[in-house]
Amino acid sequence: IAEMTHGYTGADLAALAKEAAMSALRRFIKSGKIDLNKPIPAEVLKELKVTMADFLEAMKYIQPSLIREIYIEVPEVHWDDIGGLEEAKQQLREAVEWPLKYPEVFEQMGIRPPKGILLFGPPGTGKTLLAKAAATESGANFIAVRGPEVLSKWVGESEKAIRQIFRRARQVAPTIIFFDEIDAIAPARGMRHDTSGVTDRIVNQLLTEMDGIEPLQHVVVIAATNRPDILDPALLRPGRFDRLIYVPPPDKKARLEILRIHTRKMPLADDVDLEKIAEKTEGYTGADLEAVCREAAMIAVREAFKKNKKPTTTVVKMEHFEKALKAVQPSLTPEDIRRYERLARELKRMV
Ligand code: ADP
Repeated sequence: IAEMTHGYTGADLAALAKEAAMSALRRFIKSGKIDLNKPIPAEVLKELKVTMADFLEAMKYIQPSLIREIYIEVPEVHWDDIGGLEEAKQQLREAVEWPLKYPEVFEQMGIRPPKGILLFGPPGTGKTLLAKAAATESGANFIAVRGPEVLSKWVGESEKAIRQIFRRARQVAPTIIFFDEIDAIAPARGMRHDTSGVTDRIVNQLLTEMDGIEPLQHVVVIAATNRPDILDPALLRPGRFDRLIYVPPPDKKARLEILRIHTRKMPLADDVDLEKIAEKTEGYTGADLEAVCREAAMIAVREAFKKNKKPTTTVVKMEHFEKALKAVQPSLTPEDIRRYERLARELKRMV
């Protein structure tokens, strides 16, 4: 039975056992061996047994709550693991953390928290981190779904997958559903490549599910994209993703914070000047800066290896960072940054 119940949760298995017992009881009553108006003699009662057939019968009614591969995570990212992005953090606190943690306040104040929030900005700037931190800090479960995955992993079943994701989210609420690269499943009509109508149906399913979330039902949807301009505008209507949060590339101050976060556990030599590194890393995203720190540490370890003939812990020096900066190039050009700023201004005007 254990082998046959992939995707069943603990609650599903409890329900399954109960249903199997009911099936046995129904068989027993149908067999005519007992008279329901009289106490059942002990030797007859001994024949009342739950069989394998009862379990198989029960499986027809009790289906697994999980379709394959909807993972519920409990992330461990805190607000202070994220450098910069003060405004985005504050907005998420108010729009997600407070309503999930103190629903009664919002109810009594008559404030309807948003059901959907769209984070947009260049790749590697902390959108996923923000969504995870919102979950951690609200004590919510987290279901992460990558847009392209909805199409590839659940071929022919994408709408069902969307339905199941929301169903699962409601079951384990409070839950944050995070749709990364949402543009892959909900591009604007003119941008759709398929002629089969699959995208239409997925977008409609997503909108239906979002419209169906009752306020304060403790399910919040956060989506992320770096192409907000190609999204289906239906997604941005009131009651859907009606809160837009721009996640910009880090400025110097934010870069310094990010560097501090990613060197927290590193033994740094006295000559390491993180401020100078922050100064020199225009165009580096959070992900790039993390790579710089990792690379600097690896260069230091490699150097120590050469000396000691085995890997040893060692301090990371400024020269290691300088080498790492040559190895890791910035993802964003000044033109990219200007383009995102422009897009942010245009979208703010739209919503
Ligand atoms: P996005 O979702 O915007 O593409 P992620 O949140 O996945 O970016 O970031 C990728 C990685 O880069 C993170 O796991 C983290 O290590 C690092 N990172 C990105 N932005 C930040 C930030 N603002 N503060 C700290 N680390 C960051």
